[in-house]
Amino acid sequence: MYKEDTVFYPQDEMTTVLLPVTSGCSYNKCVFCSMYKDVKYCEVPLHDIEIELLHCYTYTEKIFLTGADPLTIGFKKMKLLLELIHKHLPYCACVASYASIRSISGYTVEELSILHDLGLRLLYIGFETGRDDVLRLMNKSHSANEAIEQAKKLNDARLSFNSILMYGIAGKDEGVKNAVITAKMLNQFISNKIITMNLTVFFGTELNNMIKKGDFVPPHRKERLLEIHTLVEYLEPKQSTIFDTTHPTNIIKIKGILPQDKNLLLNKIENYIQEK
Ligand code: SF4
Repeated sequence: MYKEDTVFYPQDEMTTVLLPVTSGCSYNKCVFCSMYKDVKYCEVPLHDIEIELLHCYTYTEKIFLTGADPLTIGFKKMKLLLELIHKHLPYCACVASYASIRSISGYTVEELSILHDLGLRLLYIGFETGRDDVLRLMNKSHSANEAIEQAKKLNDARLSFNSILMYGIAGKDEGVKNAVITAKMLNQFISNKIITMNLTVFFGTELNNMIKKGDFVPPHRKERLLEIHTLVEYLEPKQSTIFDTTHPTNIIKIKGILPQDKNLLLNKIENYIQEK
């Protein structure tokens, strides 16, 4: 049951009220992911969600929906859920959630726009990379073109999202190429924030098995830093976008606004590479 689940949430939502919506991951096949391996996917019934809401402080201003990808519950249930939140927490101005390219593809622009107007204001999406060969290797369920298409849909619906990337994911000697292609993907739509994570190999994952068999060689630290540097170099956002590497997995913790802080960020990475 969802009440015993380990709850995952973005570091920006550390102080946000959490509302359980799904348990486990409906996909659960990304080779690097260990988060929900032993959890059976299920949706939390609306009745249970309403009970959770009844225990919330009436003046709550922000809610984070928990679960790997709450948008899998579909438009009708998501609409009912947002209406319930509004009914019990009338001062809540922002509902945030994880989402996947796969789940967003099940919604029309009009539906996403309705959800936005009902209070869904921020999604966290794991794009990971813009390279199709790497997406396939990592067994992500989308291609780069699908990611661009869904991201543009969200832009049309005015639904903001943070794009999460993972450097190191392309393997040894592939980091710079990965950064160039990923930046080119990101340049095609508007992200609220670009968040990087460093590839971390967890025990029991398929990626760990691939490394043991020699099917994947993780890049060294310096190559990962060069990958971040190349990413910043090639990012040309259409409007001001926060670039944030402060997630705990990162080798270097920097944060700034692109494009205006590009040189500052690049200098910080260069200095860090020289010091190490
Ligand atoms: S990375 Fe996300 S979509 Fe992939 S298995 Fe993990 S929770 Fe599911």
